[in-house]
Amino acid sequence: MTSSTLVTGIPELTTNDPEQGAGQRDPGDRLLGIVRDAALVVRGGIVAWVGPAAHAPAADARVDLGGRAVLPGFVDSHTHLVFAGDRSAEFAARMAGVPYDGAGIGSTVAATRAAPDEVLRALVRRRIAELRAQGTTTVEIKSGYGLTLEDELRCLRIAREVTPHTTFLGAHVVPPEYAADREGYVELVTGPMLDAVAGTGGRRLAAYIDVFCEPGSRHAFDGEEARAVLEAGRRVGLGLRVHGNQLGSGPGVQLACELGAASVDHCTHLDDSDVEALAAARGTTVATLLPGVEFSTRSPYPDARRLLDAGADVALASDCNPGTCYTSSMPFVIALAVRELGMTPAEAVHAATAAAARSLGLDRRVAVGCPAELAVLDAPSHLHLAYRPGVPIARALELSAA
Ligand SMILES: [Zn+2]
Repeated sequence: MTSSTLVTGIPELTTNDPEQGAGQRDPGDRLLGIVRDAALVVRGGIVAWVGPAAHAPAADARVDLGGRAVLPGFVDSHTHLVFAGDRSAEFAARMAGVPYDGAGIGSTVAATRAAPDEVLRALVRRRIAELRAQGTTTVEIKSGYGLTLEDELRCLRIAREVTPHTTFLGAHVVPPEYAADREGYVELVTGPMLDAVAGTGGRRLAAYIDVFCEPGSRHAFDGEEARAVLEAGRRVGLGLRVHGNQLGSGPGVQLACELGAASVDHCTHLDDSDVEALAAARGTTVATLLPGVEFSTRSPYPDARRLLDAGADVALASDCNPGTCYTSSMPFVIALAVRELGMTPAEAVHAATAAAARSLGLDRRVAVGCPAELAVLDAPSHLHLAYRPGVPIARALELSAA
């Protein structure tokens, strides 16, 4: 029989469980379903009991966290972890005043194509370890630095070794060899590449398809091209995600809401009709904000407050990538969201766990029967994530060693 572990010494447990939140007076406690002086029992990687430590049942083993807050592991629902090379020089140029327009992606594509499998695999595994060390227990990974049939498949296979939440982003940018034939590239993405990704023989390599919809950038895709990509993905049963409204206003958000995408990401430049569309799409389409990008490109931040007040679902993710945001730190993203996006600390934690999970079709509560995907803080409360920016207080909670 599988042994059980009782975890104690938790001054504050974030459960994301509305049942635990019901009746709480503090809005943050209500939203996060906080239990004070809590304990939980984990058996076989599944939560078997949650409640006040004073009522905890006996278990085979016991772990005392000594006054550390516990919360659901962060869900980083938007990353580009499969790449080689770095673009620190481009970052330095940008900080010296050169604007970002998506052109630098080409250099990462060249470096990624040139990297052998084992090099890419080692880089991805190192990045996953870096995420876990900062409290992220679930990660979505996109392709999009291969941009040939072979290289896109290779990147997705390597991503799939570390997560089931993979996204086909052949429509990241138009690669240089197709600069004079955009139509031909969209046909390649929606035809042979998609067929191979969707796996005619049952070997599906991605759960989602994504497109960088940014009509103002000659490297990315306009509304009609994005629609073609998303509709093709939907026809073969993939879920939809969209990079939209990052560099300027555009059709990305409306398109995502119209097609029932699971997530539309960035949402930096929104007009009133975009906000209304996202509010109306609540429960279906999550607005995923990526403030690390605005930090790293020195751009105006999205307005989370406006979206939340309108009733939209708002998630947070890192967008970890070598060009516009090379951070893997969800605590940093949470701190930015609180300081720059108008979110409360509780809203930011909820967005980085429950809402991000929903955009991947997951339930990220700490409740009986749920997977024990947990993060622990070297601090008594989730408030410290934004209160102590840059301090490495979060990590994934490893109970197997107990
Ligand atoms: Zn991205």
